Amino acid sequence: MMTLIKYALHPVILLCVIGAWLMNPESPELYLVVLLCVQLLLGTLEYWVPARPTWVVHAKEKITGILIVLVLIVCSISVAMLYAAFLSEPLAQLRETLNLDFWPHDWPLVVQLFMAFILSEFIWYGIHRAEHRWHIVWRVSGHGAHHSFKRLNALNFGLNHPLELFFLALPSAVVELLFGVGAPAAGAAILMSTQASIVHSNINLSPKLIGLFFTTNRYHLRHHSIVLEESNTNYGCATIFWDRVFGSYVDGDTIECGVGPTEPSLVEKLMMPIKEPTDVSVAPV
Ligand SMILES: [Zn+2]
Repeated sequence: MMTLIKYALHPVILLCVIGAWLMNPESPELYLVVLLCVQLLLGTLEYWVPARPTWVVHAKEKITGILIVLVLIVCSISVAMLYAAFLSEPLAQLRETLNLDFWPHDWPLVVQLFMAFILSEFIWYGIHRAEHRWHIVWRVSGHGAHHSFKRLNALNFGLNHPLELFFLALPSAVVELLFGVGAPAAGAAILMSTQASIVHSNINLSPKLIGLFFTTNRYHLRHHSIVLEESNTNYGCATIFWDRVFGSYVDGDTIECGVGPTEPSLVEKLMMPIKEPTDVSVAPV
């Protein structure tokens, strides 16, 4: 059973999610339904067969995390709506000026999905790398709050500083509005959130084959390392493709996660854009 989970769980989840989207490409509710199902499955397995038993969180901590993520999802939707309202016109004009009106709407939906996915991830790769490269971007985005957790589980996909929602929602919005993608952009967003859930999960998953293109939790754990050089790798949260292209892909065991030896409190995490804990070791200087 453990072997089956190790090798089959990750690809099977992705196949099911892509299949569900192909059957309902226009469904506005699918994003939340998929997220709920993926989180329930991963959350159950993290209790049943955790990769690191010491990382299993107590019910009270889990419920607090769920409530925070629910609030942040509502905020994310609001940010996406803000981007749609303010960016649609300038990006449509830019599309016209640069003659970018080439999106192949008649190509198979699954191909369009992966095109939107890889483009969105390209933008996210640049933003995420900037967060780890420049101190000002690290602080303004509140990215340290996401890295501050000593124990990771699937729910950590959504445990971000509220300020970072403006950074996280940007890639999908730009791709959709700049290229006039339509439904496949929403499909790509579903795939990215699914991947973000899997890569934070505390389950023993093999990176073999699937890790050639998709980020795995082994790769992303390294990005959450307490060691600065290890943390400055594997920036792609959904695909490892751009890390392979730009030379930031590294595979290796990760001993400890977090921004420093101790995990900041919830208030300290919220204050990180203004005041960082003194023992932070992975922030850019
Ligand atoms: Zn990061």
